[in-house]
Amino acid sequence: MKTEEVLADLRLRFPNEPEYHQAVEEVLSSIEDVCNERPEYERLGLIERLCIPDRIFAFRVSWIDDKGRVRSNMGYRVQHSNAIGPYKGGIRFHASVNLSILKFLAFEQTFKNSLTTLAMGGAKGGSDFSPRGKSNMEIMRFCQAFVAELWRQLGADTDVPAGDIGVGAREVGYMYGYYKKMAREFTGAFTGKGISFGGSLMRPEATGYGNCYFLLNMLATRGIDIKGKRVAISGAGNVANYTAKKLLELGAKVVSMSDSGGSIIAPEGLTQEQFEYIFDLKTYEGGRLSEVPERYPELQYHSGQRPWKLVQCDIAMPSATQNELDESDAEALLAGGCFAVSEGANMPSTPGAVHRFIDARILYAPGKAANAGGVATSGLEMAQNSQKLSWTAEEVDAKLQGIMADIHAKCVQYGRVDDSFVNYVRGANIAGFIKVADAMMAQGVL
Ligand code: NDP
Repeated sequence: MKTEEVLADLRLRFPNEPEYHQAVEEVLSSIEDVCNERPEYERLGLIERLCIPDRIFAFRVSWIDDKGRVRSNMGYRVQHSNAIGPYKGGIRFHASVNLSILKFLAFEQTFKNSLTTLAMGGAKGGSDFSPRGKSNMEIMRFCQAFVAELWRQLGADTDVPAGDIGVGAREVGYMYGYYKKMAREFTGAFTGKGISFGGSLMRPEATGYGNCYFLLNMLATRGIDIKGKRVAISGAGNVANYTAKKLLELGAKVVSMSDSGGSIIAPEGLTQEQFEYIFDLKTYEGGRLSEVPERYPELQYHSGQRPWKLVQCDIAMPSATQNELDESDAEALLAGGCFAVSEGANMPSTPGAVHRFIDARILYAPGKAANAGGVATSGLEMAQNSQKLSWTAEEVDAKLQGIMADIHAKCVQYGRVDDSFVNYVRGANIAGFIKVADAMMAQGVL
């Protein structure tokens, strides 16, 4: 297979979609050797079929704001692949949402879901609606209008959305409620639901905790203890907050967090009290990190800056958004002695930054492996919904730890370069790809 040809063709046919091209290029460059060993892939157009989503829905979402004005946004759902299970992937509400971003996320999701060992295909959806500054009622009306368009394409065995940036338990609740009304059925058609109506314990924690479990597995390969290590985190949303929470529990020092306004730096590590203040501010009060120094003057706030060049760290866990850590950030991290990067966000490191990390042979885990705990626990929520059962937090956490250890083992199996280095990008891409490719081969040309 000539990956360059497939990529050139995609660039020509789908121009102006840089994030989608970036994600495809990364996967294709990892799987080239595997594909060369299987010439039938080329004959069957398998790689091209795997890169192009099964289908895409695009629609207008009109809703009424609190002043009685009609507002319109775009809504999308990219159903990328259901080769190994129903379409599965989150919904993102953010002003930056466009088809390129959703196509990259749905593509990545397909391989991530394959890595979890659970039966889930890949999808992603969202809207350029920004929840920031909107009232609760406006958010409810928007969620209802969004699902009014999309509900026919969803279903527990068809396509199961969840949360992502700008979509948490409240938004999932409103969307699921409207879905249930339209479909007239109570099933696991969404995950990330409230506990009282089918949600799984530990789902809110799962992505951040899962990333910490993956990190622990990586550190163990080099005999490194997490205790006392300085960890820089970006983001202050669902993933970042639960990453920080688990790190504090494990005895690590959280030296930074950030939001879209800027970064908070804690040179000596956040105290439990400072972290809890930030958690509440960002999770429940709609606050900004710029407000933090009013309460804790010892914490520094850097407006408009990402954390990577602001503080020395041993470990970086980017957990905000795509392409938030570039090559110069990677250089600064490496110069400061950073020896591990475990990605909570999807594709947070630019290709240049990824090359730097791999060339430096540090422990570098791409998001599709390290943040897979979120969707894995969504898979566990689907299993509980099918059985009409609820597992305890301890049961779910134990399964999550087992899944993250399995994903790590697969990355090592396919990504080991030599005795002292594992290329986790290669490992994750090959392991995720083989399962989906085999399923597609067995199911014929669809
Ligand atoms: P949230 O909306 O809960 O939090 C996002 C955080 O990132 C907020 O602090 C936000 O700042 C910040 N942020 C968002 N966009 C930007 C930007 N363009 N520049 C700087 N900061 C930004 O989202 P999640 O925590 O759920 O998601 C974070 C990442 O993790 C995403 O890449 C998502 O795809 C990925 N992910 C999430 C999973 C989940 O289970 N939620 C599962 C797997 C991956 P502000 O508060 O100012 O808006």
